[in-house]
Amino acid sequence: MEFAALAERAERVAAHDGDIETTLAVADLLADAGDGGADRGAGDDLSVVVRFLLGRVFPAHDTRTLDVGPALCREAVARAAGPNVDAADVEDRLAERGEIGAVAAAYDFGGQRGLAAFGSGRDALTVAAVDEELRDLAAASGDGSESRKRDALFGLFTRCSPSEAAFLARLVLGEMRLGVGEGTVRDAIAEAFLSPETPTDDSDESDGDHDGPADGDDPELAAPADAVAAVERALHVTNDYGRVAVRARDEGIAGLRAESLRVGRPVQAMLAQAGTATDAVDAFGEVAVETKFDGARVQIHYAPDGAEADDDAPDDDAPDSDDSPLGPRLYSRNMDDVTEALPEIAEFVADRVDVPVILDGEVVAVDDDGDPLPFQEVLRRFRRKHDIDRMRETVSLRLHAFDCLHADGDDLLDEPLRVRHDRLREALPDAAADLTLAGDADAIAAEERAALDAGHEGVMLKNPESAYTPGDRGRDWLKRKPDVETLDAVVVGAEWGEGRRAELFGTFLLAVRDGDGASDPDGRDAAGRDPDDRDAGDLAPPGYATVGKVATGITDEALADLTARLEPLVVEETGTTVAFDPELVVEVGYEEIQTSPTYSAGYALRFPRFVGVREDKDVDGADSLARVRRLAGDD
Ligand code: AMP
Repeated sequence: MEFAALAERAERVAAHDGDIETTLAVADLLADAGDGGADRGAGDDLSVVVRFLLGRVFPAHDTRTLDVGPALCREAVARAAGPNVDAADVEDRLAERGEIGAVAAAYDFGGQRGLAAFGSGRDALTVAAVDEELRDLAAASGDGSESRKRDALFGLFTRCSPSEAAFLARLVLGEMRLGVGEGTVRDAIAEAFLSPETPTDDSDESDGDHDGPADGDDPELAAPADAVAAVERALHVTNDYGRVAVRARDEGIAGLRAESLRVGRPVQAMLAQAGTATDAVDAFGEVAVETKFDGARVQIHYAPDGAEADDDAPDDDAPDSDDSPLGPRLYSRNMDDVTEALPEIAEFVADRVDVPVILDGEVVAVDDDGDPLPFQEVLRRFRRKHDIDRMRETVSLRLHAFDCLHADGDDLLDEPLRVRHDRLREALPDAAADLTLAGDADAIAAEERAALDAGHEGVMLKNPESAYTPGDRGRDWLKRKPDVETLDAVVVGAEWGEGRRAELFGTFLLAVRDGDGASDPDGRDAAGRDPDDRDAGDLAPPGYATVGKVATGITDEALADLTARLEPLVVEETGTTVAFDPELVVEVGYEEIQTSPTYSAGYALRFPRFVGVREDKDVDGADSLARVRRLAGDD
């Protein structure tokens, strides 16, 4: 495919603004790029076009980079623009236009050299040639590599039309601005090669004859959901959009399903969302609780007896595609190879693991007692290229592995977490993080306290039945959000305990000050209810509005103390429920404040937790309904 054709098609893609239109336009482009007939051979541009659209020359798992910064790109543009232009001029234009592609296009390099007159006689760039030149450029290293890169880039720019120059400049800086994200490319691959309507005839390169809708119709994607899912899964395990597109085209869904993880080819890390203990219990029932280590993410690949060969790769792009033993390789969260910087972690793994593995974990800096140090310490080690031995003496590291994606020939991504964790413990017991199953928020709180006491950041709450979904920030991993602020509430009622605790109060009714409620002429509460509609247990004294009941976090000792202090304040007793004169102020934690008709404030504390008595406060210092509204985000 000519590079000019790609650049022009990309401009057209960028002009679409609907999700589906964009996807269909990309699908057309991929179908054309991948349409070289039966013997595509060297004419097969599909994988390159897919990567280029995503602003990449190498697949995401490949640690090679162009290493072309904005300054170098500006210099190459300036040189290609002719003797009267310098880098400062390019910079000025950049300040005006805000984007290097538009600046490069405006210089019209072909025109500068008088080539425009030759029209199509120009020595046309092809997609394959640009790809090759950029790969050569990436390989330049050592002394003088910067100027060689500048020369190579200059050479390319001088052969570019305006739209090619814009595409090239954006590509080398990884800023494509086409409005084409990874999700669009995923859907477009499915649409182009796996939809029931995928054309099998030779399509004309220029008119985009993919079976898209006629003008005026509402466009619709035709690829079925299982095709999209197959593409997504293949992307997860290969981490290579170009490869997956070729597989989809050549071998269809079956080919995609045959894709597997490979030791030595990093995948995207699974990510977490913020969530609370109750969120986790509500969503998962039983919750897998792990320590949240405050360090840097690391993905470990190790094949003591040789990485699996990858003979049938659609392109032989990947390094390490032979089956020689692969020493431990460590990758950062962004899939940079950080092995050299962390030699003791690599040694630790090599000494202990005897089957091929892909593990996920966190590297933490520790002090002489092995206690964790703040995250900043680990950063002093993580990307270091020099002085590694000296820093190894200064900052000690420890690995905590928490997941296992592959072990001994088995891909485990689709296995539930608890199974993956068992495999992790088998493979590397010395570094496997503990996983505790907890059935309620109290048990989670206890784990969190233990993790905090040991100097860690908190806890991660995971669905024990969940698969490992690379790159996904889903709801199966929750990083526990700490209680934001506590509330100082007045104890206005209680219920007697049961059984062994029948002599003590067990549950305490909490209220905040409510200046408005007291003066409401109808006697309606803040939840809008008539006094007759409230039950006895929810009767707040005038000037107060109830917000919840607390029964958690109270030690036996505190319970006895609270009972002794509150008994003299009882003003009313109905069954096991009592009401108090408002005098005692307690501090309570909670996970969230929700609107709720249950209490007279119109709000309820979610998962309230007793922190302690506010000895220093009387009721006038207790929190107000106005503050509750603010904390709930309503004011
Ligand atoms: P955050 O960086 O705040 O989004 O939190 C997610 C990060 O916590 C992950 O990317 C890991 O680097 C780190 N982490 C620490 N401990 C764990 C764990 N047990 N499971 C998963 N991630 C963890």
